[in-house]
Amino acid sequence: TPVTVWILGDQLLRAHPAIEAVEAQAGRRNMRIVLVESDARIAQMPYQRKKIVLILSAMRHYAASLRERGYLVDEVRAPSFVAGLQRHIAQHRSQRLVTMAAAEYETRRFQQDYLSQALGISVEVLPNTQFLTGRRNPFPDVEPSQRVIMERFYRAMRRHFDVLLEPDGSPTGGAWNFDRLNRRPLPRSVAPPPPLTFEPDAITRRVIAEVEARSGGVGTATGFALAVTHAQAEAALADFVAHRLAAFGPYEDAMSAAHDVLFHSMLSPYLNIGLLEPLQIVRTVEEAYRAGAAPIQSVEGFARQIIGWREYIYWQYWRLMPGLRDANAWNATRPLPRFFWSGDTDMRCLRHVIERAIATGYTHHIERLMIVCNFCLLAGIRPSEVNDWFLAHYVDAYDWVMQPNVIGMGLNADGGLTATKPYIASAAYIRKMSDYCDGCRYDPKRRIGPDACPFNTLYWNFLIRHEATLRANPRMGPAVLGLARFDASEREAVTRQAEMVLGEN
Ligand code: FAD
Ligand code: SF4
Repeated sequence: TPVTVWILGDQLLRAHPAIEAVEAQAGRRNMRIVLVESDARIAQMPYQRKKIVLILSAMRHYAASLRERGYLVDEVRAPSFVAGLQRHIAQHRSQRLVTMAAAEYETRRFQQDYLSQALGISVEVLPNTQFLTGRRNPFPDVEPSQRVIMERFYRAMRRHFDVLLEPDGSPTGGAWNFDRLNRRPLPRSVAPPPPLTFEPDAITRRVIAEVEARSGGVGTATGFALAVTHAQAEAALADFVAHRLAAFGPYEDAMSAAHDVLFHSMLSPYLNIGLLEPLQIVRTVEEAYRAGAAPIQSVEGFARQIIGWREYIYWQYWRLMPGLRDANAWNATRPLPRFFWSGDTDMRCLRHVIERAIATGYTHHIERLMIVCNFCLLAGIRPSEVNDWFLAHYVDAYDWVMQPNVIGMGLNADGGLTATKPYIASAAYIRKMSDYCDGCRYDPKRRIGPDACPFNTLYWNFLIRHEATLRANPRMGPAVLGLARFDASEREAVTRQAEMVLGEN
């Protein structure tokens, strides 16, 4: 009797552990690989249409490539995962299903606790291999309440996987971190080379038409130009290494109205669905460094994103779930302003970032953190609503990466387990790191009055409201000290103006 291998849409690995295991046990002829396109999953939220195109097209290309390699593949479209799997199992008379553990909490629970009963056959869930922490958990025994900072985690991963280390074990370039050389704004004279785009083929064009015909969703499927195969994703990686990696470090925090990707890699959409893998990317950039193609502050900074931040976020997710979604350490209770769904606001920075997220499904890290989350934290927006906005808009959004980044890092709602201080900033930071303030109707130097930048008003209002809590955090001390210059009437003016700003939105 045949064995079924169920592959999820974000697990399109070249070497898939479930395929390898079943092929070794039962042989290729006794194996049926199934990919289910579940309507319920696709419509669970009004997702970014380009993300739906990416996943469905990549799944169909993956199925085709497996068939070319001689596997028997069943592609099922069904109202739900269970309905699709039931149909497949009835047709092929499978007695057993093997699958790889989902990266997302709910789906993994579904695989482990529900699937076997729903299908009436035995289900085996193999460990997830898409993250390096699956192979090496550097801190397996820490309590959920105990904080492990990213830097410690990163160094442990770097040592274990031997990334950018000298033969004596010291870090390449003489330091673990070169941030002091980075964090530069983008000079007007620098024009970042745009990332590679990919002309949709017949499969992708068909998916685009199907997604356009669906109701709900954010943005449009038209204009989709992402990679949908391993070969294309590898071409995107090579393009990044050749044209943007060298300047990645210096400009990783820069923001621009004219450029969205700048010197970032734009690889997260591919990495998150298995078209690329973390160690493959890290070895490639290490090679570029050894070949003299990029300086250490860029290569180290980039490797830290992949084996540091990304792995750390996934590790945090699995140790903090399922409680993370309800975390709300700053007691934020306001609803998300409606302009988040249209970009219709006079705040030029937010307008650009929201419009970009709607149109492309991508904005880089600092815009997510220091524009969107910064505003939401200062304005006291409910964390779960911010989380859902991100999940709906971005092409690289998945529950495992969203919750720790939005609720933990961006909104500091997890009590400081992910970030040791809230990432809050006034317009001074945005003005320094971007060109957004030029031409904005607000004045980035004012905090009170009709032209005052809302980021300033809300920043000082946040410090006033949470003064006692912030004072207790040693990393926030200097910020709160600024309040000493405020007399009672100035505090009151800020509070009053903040109420007005929040009322308007
Ligand atoms: P680059 O700047 O080129 O970085 C390289 C890679 O490092 C990324 O592709 C990504 O895989 C990894 N990386 C870097 N930082 C993180 C991080 N904090 N968490 C996870 N991976 C990281 N990333 C997602 O993949 N999906 C999301 O839905 C997502 N939502 C985010 C929401 C917020 C509020 C914040 C602050 C960050 C979020 N991130 C998310 C992390 C990060 O912003 C994106 O991974 C990155 O912007 C993707 O663009 P890039 O590939 O050009 O990244
Ligand atoms: Fe954003 Fe304020 Fe600058 Fe306008 S002035 S772009 S609202 S930071």
